[in-house]
Amino acid sequence: MTVKILGYAAKSATAPLAPLHFERREPRADDVVIEVLYCGVCHSDLHQARNDWGFSQYPLVPGHEVIGRVTSVGKKVTKFAVGDIAGIGCMVDSCRQCNPCKQGLEQYCEEGNIQTYNGNDRHDHSVTYGGYSQSITCSEDFVLKIPQGLELSGAAPLLCAGITTWSPLRHWNIGKGSKVAIVGLGGLGHMALKLANALGAEVTLFTRSANKEADARRLGAHHVILSNDPEQMAQVNGQFDLIIDTVPYTHDINLYMPTLTLDGTLVFVGLLGEIDPTVSTVSMVLGRRSIAGSCIGGIAETQEMLDFCGQYNITSDVEVINMAEINEAYERMLKSDVKYRFVIDMATLRP
Ligand SMILES: [Zn+2]
Ligand SMILES: [Zn+2]
Repeated sequence: MTVKILGYAAKSATAPLAPLHFERREPRADDVVIEVLYCGVCHSDLHQARNDWGFSQYPLVPGHEVIGRVTSVGKKVTKFAVGDIAGIGCMVDSCRQCNPCKQGLEQYCEEGNIQTYNGNDRHDHSVTYGGYSQSITCSEDFVLKIPQGLELSGAAPLLCAGITTWSPLRHWNIGKGSKVAIVGLGGLGHMALKLANALGAEVTLFTRSANKEADARRLGAHHVILSNDPEQMAQVNGQFDLIIDTVPYTHDINLYMPTLTLDGTLVFVGLLGEIDPTVSTVSMVLGRRSIAGSCIGGIAETQEMLDFCGQYNITSDVEVINMAEINEAYERMLKSDVKYRFVIDMATLRP
């Protein structure tokens, strides 16, 4: 027995997103069913809808920044009750037994985590469908609690953009006395500014456009450095404990490496691919500096981030759209024409 619901799907790599009736599994004993209220629009939604990474399965229902209300729970569910406000991020399952899983690092599961959409369920191997839909069904172990009082449309992007920047801040122990720099001011970058600021760090934004300064300061930057101005770059030589690089396309990081302090780290969270131009090891060797990468965050860490955001009233800056505006939103995202995340009001799914 499956449940037929309405969503928005790409039927091929070239088709615009359009309404689609599709089936979700009958809820299992550990499943929570969530009526979707808001779903954030992540760059990876666009990439996967268009098969930019070569592994899309169609029809493809995107969406992994999901917030909604629990409408039913399986008989073994203990953490959620009908009526709770709950969230789902980028993963809906993992093996739960390997070393990373046992450490709460399900995103690094040795068997691969199960993606919220365009993944394959571990039990019945059916394709997973994301949050651009009426409802979503997920094991309670991968469902997050949304703190009371957080504005829900702005909370949705915390589930991908928020945790993606929170995880490196926590892993590299950023807090009072730390100096952090962020490269790029988009969906990820604006969350990094807010979170690093709230953790008590001294925060710098690297940008190439002077017109981003006012916004950067409003979002939590104490300093803004124009990365194409060698004089400004020289002033921050040897300063930063951590640089979070959010830029999703290749760019010259040789600019930034000397601005790290001894043992400082530049961590990629947006780029998947090769670094071009190539990186000189000089600044790494002479300052014991590192280049690293970080992928979303585990479930416990995501809950920790949400609770922190509840405490400090941190949400994403969003532009709420109707479901039917999604194709236009994708076009605007390609031009970085959004401050700083689109979120779909799922009440608009039904015409
Ligand atoms: Zn995402
Ligand atoms: Zn695992």
